[in-house]
Amino acid sequence: MRLYDAHNHLQDERLLDRADALLREAADEGIAHMVVNGATETDWPDVAALYERHPDHIIPSYGLHPWYVQQRSDQWEQRLCAALDAHPAGVGEMGLDRWKSDLSWEGQEEVFIAQLRIAAERNLPASIHCLQAWGRLYEILEQEPRPACGFLLHSYGGSAEMVERFAPLGAYFSFPGAFAREKKERQREAFRRVPPDRLLIETDAPDQHPPPRLITHPLKDNEGQALNHPANLAAVYRYVADMLDEPVDQLAARVETNFKRLFAAFS
Ligand SMILES: [Zn+2]
Repeated sequence: MRLYDAHNHLQDERLLDRADALLREAADEGIAHMVVNGATETDWPDVAALYERHPDHIIPSYGLHPWYVQQRSDQWEQRLCAALDAHPAGVGEMGLDRWKSDLSWEGQEEVFIAQLRIAAERNLPASIHCLQAWGRLYEILEQEPRPACGFLLHSYGGSAEMVERFAPLGAYFSFPGAFAREKKERQREAFRRVPPDRLLIETDAPDQHPPPRLITHPLKDNEGQALNHPANLAAVYRYVADMLDEPVDQLAARVETNFKRLFAAFS
């Protein structure tokens, strides 16, 4: 079985000094490819360096995450285009966030739309974060140009009904291990409605760790805080197979086909 992590942050400062070892451990678990998402201008070079060391395992993606919109430079768009020109890459993590209480809405839509347009122009897969802004996200995706190859709603936490509205626009939906937690039944219900050809699986490492019973690779930061290891992905596959009542090798083949379709430019 070959596994695919549709969304993580291996360049995160909590992982970066041991990223090569983590990647090796993930490969030992059968993880063939992972999409590593830059979130702010300052971490794009770290994503690029990881890709240059591991071009067969990493698909780089560059974007401005809504949490870092306020820190952008005047040249952020030129820098993003330069990163996308340097080697094959996706666009994101980008998105909209009304959940984080101290986060301003100012600039979020403008920066998201600019990135969406770049992804559409270049036909690159976009990796989208959305928390408590699903209605507005839908309006923007419906009105704006979208990448023909499709886009990823990572850790999709919108309603089950909205799955059916996003899918015709080209959406893929990725399930993180954290949705195996007991209180995430609403999110699981939405994933039961995801069209078979639009399902993906992710870790979002180092965040969103799965419940303890699914952690095969415990990991901590220097202060002893738990981190999500990208090799936990295999246990998430087993969980999703169980949830959808599908043999895990059949699920894995389906997710591989979906991943290769969305990220066709990189395989
Ligand atoms: Zn993320």
